[in-house]
Amino acid sequence: MKFIADRMLGKLAKELRMLGYDTVYYQGENAYPLIKLAREEGRVILTRNTKLIPKRPEDSIIRITEDKPPLQLRELIQKKVVSLNDKNLFTRCLLCNILLDEISLEEAEGKVPDYIFHQQKTFSRCPQCQRIYWQGSHQDHMQKKVEELWKNIKSQTPNHK
Ligand SMILES: [Zn+2]
Repeated sequence: MKFIADRMLGKLAKELRMLGYDTVYYQGENAYPLIKLAREEGRVILTRNTKLIPKRPEDSIIRITEDKPPLQLRELIQKKVVSLNDKNLFTRCLLCNILLDEISLEEAEGKVPDYIFHQQKTFSRCPQCQRIYWQGSHQDHMQKKVEELWKNIKSQTPNHK
């Protein structure tokens, strides 16, 4: 499933990318280009705008009711729109929404801090912004966030105990 998030949902868009979901962040104010892009690329619209309603059968719009980003992601998981899949975590650039390429150690050498280079075994790079990712502290932090979120959801839905 692919998404397009409206301008109110920038943090949610990043969190969805973190989970591996192809998510465009639309920062414009007008709804029409948003809907047009969603139709062209087959994306589900995520919005806080209560006035945005589907006009054609192919329009798919999910209204986010929660105010805070962590609760918004939880809302999508509870609605069974997205799920957590370890395999897809951190496969996409959080800034560019592009799938990362795995790169060799030689390619990473000199481009990341020395201590990181010696700690890590695998590196990946965004083909667009060239940012290099690794399973470092930043990602551990994100991973923890995801796990906490998951725990929260499970403890609130008795069926999943
Ligand atoms: Zn990038």
